[in-house]
Amino acid sequence: MGQGSESLNDMAEEGGETCHEDAMSRYKTVKAAKIGSLVTCPSCGRPFRKKSYHHTFCNNKGRENCKDRFWNRATPERQKRAKEWNR
Ligand SMILES: [Zn+2]
Repeated sequence: MGQGSESLNDMAEEGGETCHEDAMSRYKTVKAAKIGSLVTCPSCGRPFRKKSYHHTFCNNKGRENCKDRFWNRATPERQKRAKEWNR
């Protein structure tokens, strides 16, 4: 009976790890890219042209911006702190 849920848990864990490593490698690729080259946003996967050396995400302004979303997902510690601050 427990077979179904076990395999589901395995899949979820594998998917999460792969997704995280993929995002980090995409972030490194954008960081290493030259200014003016077409890169893929590490957070949402949208292509954009790199405007400056520190330009790493397609959107880093506003509440739901790709920069904050990426780092909130990449660093669980920061996520915890953000929750404490909201209290
Ligand atoms: Zn983006």
